Amino acid sequence: MFSCDKDSDTTPPVIDLKNPVEGAVLEIGDEHGIYFEMELSDNEMLSSYKIEIHNNFDAHGHSHSKAASETAPFFFQKSWDISGQRNASIHHYEIVIPEDATPGKYHLLVYCTDAAGNETNIARNIILEKNRNNPG
Ligand SMILES: [Zn+2]
Repeated sequence: MFSCDKDSDTTPPVIDLKNPVEGAVLEIGDEHGIYFEMELSDNEMLSSYKIEIHNNFDAHGHSHSKAASETAPFFFQKSWDISGQRNASIHHYEIVIPEDATPGKYHLLVYCTDAAGNETNIARNIILEKNRNNPG
């Protein structure tokens, strides 16, 4: 981290996550990936966002600050650079849940950071399920 005191932007970015919705059931092994859609905005300038998915088999609820990761049957984490924009419309299929992922309850978290280092995060409960219609 670096310090940057030249401005006093303390307003964090806003995340409007449209998909997946709360309680969404996502398909394991779908090679097309999960449709992800959200709108990001900041009063000054955005910097980056990060998506994380970790299991919630222990129903740990969400005020945690550390990632419950190492033993997770499926764990996803990736960051994207969106610097230079005040508003960003994000939509992609970059989250792919591999065939060997363990079905169950997961959390999907989105973190967004602005150019001044303010961070917003939101959490969604999602469910990973095998597709029974496609045994191939
Ligand atoms: Zn969690």
